[in-house]
Amino acid sequence: MKALLEQLVEENRPFARQGRVADYIPELSKADPRELGICLLSQDGEEQAAGDFQRVFTMQSIVKPILLLLALLDNGEEAVRAQIGVEATGKPFDAINDAEQELLSEHLNPMVNMGAILLSTRIRGENSAERFRRLLDFTRQLADNPDLAVIQAVYESEKKNGSRNRAMAYLLKSHGLLCEEVEDVLDCYFQACSIGVSCRDLARIGCLFASHGRAPGSGKPVFPERYARYVNAILMTCGMYDGSGDFAVKVGLPAKSGVGGGIMAVCPGRMGIGIYSPALDVKGNSLAGIRLLEQLSHRLGLSVF
Ligand code: GLN
Repeated sequence: MKALLEQLVEENRPFARQGRVADYIPELSKADPRELGICLLSQDGEEQAAGDFQRVFTMQSIVKPILLLLALLDNGEEAVRAQIGVEATGKPFDAINDAEQELLSEHLNPMVNMGAILLSTRIRGENSAERFRRLLDFTRQLADNPDLAVIQAVYESEKKNGSRNRAMAYLLKSHGLLCEEVEDVLDCYFQACSIGVSCRDLARIGCLFASHGRAPGSGKPVFPERYARYVNAILMTCGMYDGSGDFAVKVGLPAKSGVGGGIMAVCPGRMGIGIYSPALDVKGNSLAGIRLLEQLSHRLGLSVF
């Protein structure tokens, strides 16, 4: 398996040249576009990795399924569902819904920015700082890595250059969907996006979703199976934004991408996969990362379809 991963990494590395590193904030544009890494963690706890799997990068949108899971644990499915819908948007992650049209909770999806910004207010906590503290603790628990921390320079850069996210938050507020102060809400969201992880952390979190909430190796329950199914279903239909259909055809797995270049893929009943390659395609998904996953899925028969 290790030899296969190494071969696929080297075969796909050159394709990163066709993508572009995110440059909407200066900090992200510093990433090395040639890097490509992968880590697999199987349900029985066995790990395999290749390439730049130790590189630490920011989660960005990959934190969205964790936000959703924590909101489900804090409030239950019915309450979350009533405020943030589950239908795929078929639009880019930062699309701004037409202000002319009435914006309803069922128009929101937790895997794109507008839904996730609202979701970050649905985490239990006295204020935004406490909500973020709980989210970070929970992410550390899922990754089984107490050292996970915010990459401060990325957080500051997100905050300084976050006009589009501010526009989305104000739009939510104008439609009566968001009650809290926009800057407080975004502070939690920007920090969440700036949590640093490696492929190994993503593989471990993906593995928990793959094993329906049970820890790899020990099988100890970490969160309820029904929430894993809820999150996995939304990952399959909207985890790769307006590239989700194409990804489902090519790879056939629930997955979440982030503009930092990470992908967390979930192979139900088998394994979690963490990928890193910061050069992105036009939809903001890791270009070489998707290619690598497509080939791995064919070689190992990973598609759920
Ligand atoms: N921080 C990014 C944003 O909010 C996350 C988006 C992403 O990873 N696609 O714009």
